[in-house]
Amino acid sequence: MSRRFWSLCLAAMLAPCAAAAAGDATEEGLATLWEGLWHQSGTPTRVVRWENEIRFRMTGIDLAQHRDYVTQALRTVTQEAGVQLVDVTDQPGETPNLTVEIVPDTALQDNQPCVTFLDFRTETRVDRASIQMRSRDTYRCAYHEAMHLMGVRGHPGGHTVLSYFPQKVDGLTSLDRVMLRAWYSPRMKGGMTPFEALPVLSDELIASLPEAERPAAQQTRDRFFAATVEQMQAYAAGRGDIPAIVKRSGKSTEDGIRHGRSEMSYFLGVAYFEGATVGADQKQALGWFERAASAGNRRAQSYLAGPGTR
Ligand SMILES: [Zn+2]
Repeated sequence: MSRRFWSLCLAAMLAPCAAAAAGDATEEGLATLWEGLWHQSGTPTRVVRWENEIRFRMTGIDLAQHRDYVTQALRTVTQEAGVQLVDVTDQPGETPNLTVEIVPDTALQDNQPCVTFLDFRTETRVDRASIQMRSRDTYRCAYHEAMHLMGVRGHPGGHTVLSYFPQKVDGLTSLDRVMLRAWYSPRMKGGMTPFEALPVLSDELIASLPEAERPAAQQTRDRFFAATVEQMQAYAAGRGDIPAIVKRSGKSTEDGIRHGRSEMSYFLGVAYFEGATVGADQKQALGWFERAASAGNRRAQSYLAGPGTR
């Protein structure tokens, strides 16, 4: 057997393996982006984001030790998103719309040593926010909370600093950057429902890949969309088990799941109505709006009441 033959043989064997590995990475990336939209209560959320500059003040203890690191985390996420960041810590006359407080190690709880609150009147635009971190946990919390600050409320699995088991805590992963760029791209709008947001997130992921990998990634995306819609239809209709992502949150309750099902029915109505993630189908849209409306979902009821009332 000639050496040449062997090398050809190896190449032939490796090529499909490499393609399969790339496909897995794309699928894992898509799953991470989708999970990023889910709140831990067990329902996916709308996109909320900052529409104005962020003016922050840092308060609390050990600031000399933590200020540069935390500021760098805030700079990293806002730069990726294209949001202006202004530090008003040393300007007492200025009113911040973000406060970052470093608290003692005895504050908060051991199982939640840092927390971000996003303040919004409507689920579209963040008006104000606050972050608290225990002094000793600042190193592992800063980038995680900075991602929440930008509006990403989920704790997806996969390669993200938002994961409960992150591989990296002191910076953003490439997937985090994809998430932020998509979240703040002109195509994304505050208030978008999950199936409207998913294509924007997916396209940003595919655009981040080398050109040669994109056609295969698009096929993976199409399969992922179809599987996700099917799974969510089963969830909304109360068939089968609840999605693994809801279970994994560990905070789902029966009420939360019931609410999640009615929300999901409404989101599926929007998806079919607008042809987002799935092909437009007005009959399906109507069916899902009616299901959501009969479960008391107000937005679905106003959709059914006619255009312009949403
Ligand atoms: Zn978190």
